Amino acid sequence: MPLSVIETQTIAPFDVATVRAQFPLLRRTVYDNRPLVYLDSAATSQKPQCVIDAIVDYYTQHNSNVHRSAHALSTEATVMFEDGRRTVASFLNASRPEEIIFTRGTTEAINLIAQTWGHMHVRTGDVVLLTEMEHHANIVPWQMLCERVGASIRTIPVDERGVLSIDAINEIQNVKVLALTHVSNTLGTINDVKSLCSWARSRGIVTVVDGAQAISHIKADVQDIGCDFYAFSGHKLYGPTGIGVLYGRYALLDAMPPYQGGGSMISTVSFEQTTYNDVPVRFEAGTPNIEGVVALAAAIRWFSSFDLGALAEHEQMLLARTSDGLSTIDGLRVIGTAPHKIGIVSFVVEGVHAADIGALVDRQGVAIRVGHHCNMPLMQCYGLTSTARASFAMYTSEHDVDQLLMATNKAVRMLR
Ligand code: PMP
Repeated sequence: MPLSVIETQTIAPFDVATVRAQFPLLRRTVYDNRPLVYLDSAATSQKPQCVIDAIVDYYTQHNSNVHRSAHALSTEATVMFEDGRRTVASFLNASRPEEIIFTRGTTEAINLIAQTWGHMHVRTGDVVLLTEMEHHANIVPWQMLCERVGASIRTIPVDERGVLSIDAINEIQNVKVLALTHVSNTLGTINDVKSLCSWARSRGIVTVVDGAQAISHIKADVQDIGCDFYAFSGHKLYGPTGIGVLYGRYALLDAMPPYQGGGSMISTVSFEQTTYNDVPVRFEAGTPNIEGVVALAAAIRWFSSFDLGALAEHEQMLLARTSDGLSTIDGLRVIGTAPHKIGIVSFVVEGVHAADIGALVDRQGVAIRVGHHCNMPLMQCYGLTSTARASFAMYTSEHDVDQLLMATNKAVRMLR
């Protein structure tokens, strides 16, 4: 079947009020009836009504197991599930649906690569090349692999602004795999993954791109990027939690051993020997998250109905408004000032704990995140233990930003 599932949609003009109206949770209040200002979308995005409806529709009309039974419902569920796979393939511009494996999220996708491809190919003395801005999900699975096989981790450094310093990259020897984030979840930096994948390809290095933060902000075209693997989580793309995607180049996936054993992933089983199924079900043991796939496909279709250029413009306007506003607060420093950023703003205030800022703005209805953001090694690079972080999504408005600025100003005045 052609990969045209989302290509026929019309593109709607971008209007933040219209977008917000589709998110029931944004009508909530917290504490003393304060309207919620949700600025924690890098942790997880809120869900539009059409995604919520897709889950309800699946359970009220179609619920059944997939790839198994001979009855009508099962056929419907299987069609919806595999249609979801085609939607994701089309969204990422994969060359075939079989290149899409459903996982629980980015974390499981990266663990899958490390434990299958990694175990097959990474040997004693090899180097796994990461960057200093990696999320723990793109560090720990590689560390576990390295410990087992006697390989080591090297990192590409990050400069003061939060930009990768690649000057010395050619001096690193024995690199087997380059695993890097498309966008930093603390700094907001957009990395030039296309150039780095091209550099890696010319040296026979396999590439893994962590798309968790990029996926809802910039185009992720795996063929254009030229990566071997790309991972993302549904919940950061207006879809549900518990569903994620691993894209892998077919030739690599086809040569990989299974990840987990169980139903679906087999071809034949006897007590003497098991033979394994084809890609992608070889990597999807057991009953999958069917409603997760159906709702993720709904989220992708919804997201794809907007003009990414208009979204980026809106986000850059919010970013400038936030940076300008925060810069007027005495002692406040923005962490992450790369020229190419998405709408993530991390900051610290001299003499004030980020946790205290988080607690005080929360009481004013403003939800941000404070802490190390699963970026402990990056925090160390900046000599920090935590930052306060505001992160934007399509539904973030100028009013949200103004509320953040007011609440932060007030919090800092109280804490000084
Ligand atoms: N990588 C990055 C850059 C992230 O921001 C996150 C989530 N914060 C992850 C990986 C892990 O995603 P998940 O928890 O959905 O598996």
